[in-house]
Amino acid sequence: MEIKEFDTIILGGGPAGFSAGIYAARGAVSTAILDVNVMGGQPSNYLELENYPGFKRVDGMELMEQFEQHADMFGVEKFDMIEIVDIDLVSEPKVIKTKEIEFRAKSVILATGAKSMKLGVPGEKEFVGRGVSYCAVCDASFYKDKVVAVVGGGNSAVEEAMYLTKFASKVYLIHRRDELRADKLIQNRAFKTEKLEFIWDSVVEEIQGTDLVNNLVVRNVKTGEVKNLAVNGIFPYIGITPNVDYVKGQLEQDSRGFILTDETMQTSVKGVFAVGDVRNTPLRQVITAAADGAVGAVYAIKYVDSLAPVSAVK
Ligand code: NAP
Repeated sequence: MEIKEFDTIILGGGPAGFSAGIYAARGAVSTAILDVNVMGGQPSNYLELENYPGFKRVDGMELMEQFEQHADMFGVEKFDMIEIVDIDLVSEPKVIKTKEIEFRAKSVILATGAKSMKLGVPGEKEFVGRGVSYCAVCDASFYKDKVVAVVGGGNSAVEEAMYLTKFASKVYLIHRRDELRADKLIQNRAFKTEKLEFIWDSVVEEIQGTDLVNNLVVRNVKTGEVKNLAVNGIFPYIGITPNVDYVKGQLEQDSRGFILTDETMQTSVKGVFAVGDVRNTPLRQVITAAADGAVGAVYAIKYVDSLAPVSAVK
């Protein structure tokens, strides 16, 4: 098996990973970014960001392409669509095995982000791709002049619901409370959006259909009333859960699985850092992920230097 050695290996090619890559490679440590998907991370699916400083309005994918090109400029090596077979984060060096390559690194920066949470109701799994979708950007065009529902009250749910109104004839936004969690600016736009109707204090209990989704069973949590809602599609946007399957008990995590770090992004294992959405952080934004990446990389460099001290100039 081919062996590749680096000072720092970053798992995950999103904003946190690319930022870490830029800082690590610019800090003169050999750096690689590995991703199980294509590079870009979650923001590649964001339609538009207007709170990343310096970019008044930017397409998520375009911003990530710029992050990637910036990392390329400093010579970060990239390996995408890899399949991880095994990881040993505790050993020295750290080892990441894929089917073809064994990667070895003095330090590892985990930037694997997070993924959509599932409603966990009957019909959800069965109708994925047949009316259940977690990506409005990817699937909205299938719902031209159709009726869809979005579930959730955060920024994602509200923004994606507004986006869907450009295609669907009607969009319901089903939220379990009577107040949205989304930023006020986004809320104000949503309340003015035609074709968007809010269904408050309600949860989806079942997704029904024949070949394709055609009905939701919705329960009002205050009155207990249960009603049917005829829709052609449902987009759950109820938050995220960390991509940490590979950790397998090697690091300390919180009750939801997010990786615990100190303020230098150091995890419970020396030489292993976690940055961005995958760690226990109070804010999950592109800018906070990028900032985490910078901090984690600087401390990863310090760790690498501590293993092989630079000899003093005589
Ligand atoms: P989020 O902010 O955690 O919101 C999740 C929403 O889903 C909440 O309204 C929550 O209700 C609801 N929910 C959770 N579990 C549920 C369940 N089992 N059934 C029904 N509803 C449920 O998640 P997000 O919207 O995906 O955003 C994640 C992060 O990305 C946030 O920090 C957000 O600001 C950021 N983001 C930013 C942008 C942007 O800046 N343009 C765009 C998208 C996302 P409660 O409110 O009752 O808890």
